[in-house]
Amino acid sequence: EVVLRLDGVAKAFPNGVTALDGLDMEVRAGEFLSLLGPSGCGKSTALRLIAGLSEPTGGRIEGRPAGGAPSIGFVFQEPTLMPWATVFGNVHLPLRLQGIGRRQAEAAIMEALEMVGLGAFRDAYPRELSGGMKMRVSIARALVTKPALLLMDEPFAALDEITRFKLNNDLLAVWRQLKCTVVFVTHSVFESVFLSTRILVFRARPGRVAAEIGIDPALPRD
Ligand code: ADP
Ligand code: ADP
Repeated sequence: EVVLRLDGVAKAFPNGVTALDGLDMEVRAGEFLSLLGPSGCGKSTALRLIAGLSEPTGGRIEGRPAGGAPSIGFVFQEPTLMPWATVFGNVHLPLRLQGIGRRQAEAAIMEALEMVGLGAFRDAYPRELSGGMKMRVSIARALVTKPALLLMDEPFAALDEITRFKLNNDLLAVWRQLKCTVVFVTHSVFESVFLSTRILVFRARPGRVAAEIGIDPALPRD
């Protein structure tokens, strides 16, 4: 049931900043886990360590998928789309990197786009899309490989409140449909309570888990 475990994990950067020290946490299969805390408490650092984008300077991480991709999907705060490619082309990228051509990837790409409500925008370019739509493309791109673990780093922080609320609702629907494990970084108490089955509250300097909140997944949230 535990898919990933961090044991006394530390991350000290060369500039002397200790972002994390003695971080103990686990990720359980199928849960929607939020890492909640103020800016600078080490949430993104923890997520990057989980993704294998960074190495700990102390402690141990067990269960991290070798090589990172494609069993992990990562959604950054910035949608980071390729401006010269269409929506379809952007979502194709992770499959293209695996050597899967457009034709062969089409069904998976369209399925991911339908999931985020953008099926009709397959031929649009990023500049034609709103901020919320760009974020939807970014989520579709993370989902197109059907990752077991979806990591999201404050994905909606730059969006207006109404768009953010819509995306929260749609993300919940996607998570229920895919039954994947999500680790979601946020500084919004509302967002974490609305989305999660479990919340780890981080405290800063150096970052570690100060409290854990479990939310009955059977309770209606929307
Ligand atoms: P959060 O995601 O909770 O806002 P971060 O994990 O981004 O926090 O950062 C935690 C602390 O580590 C901050 O003080 C930040 O400035 C510092 N930090 C993060 N990444 C680096 C880095 N690559 N080099 C130096 N300091 C960093
Ligand atoms: P590694 O563990 O491989 O050394 P890091 O976790 O140090 O990798 O990540 C380096 C990344 O963090 C770089 O992309 C850099 O731009 C970014 N970064 C550098 N300084 C900071 C900072 N103070 N806060 C947040 N991110 C930072």
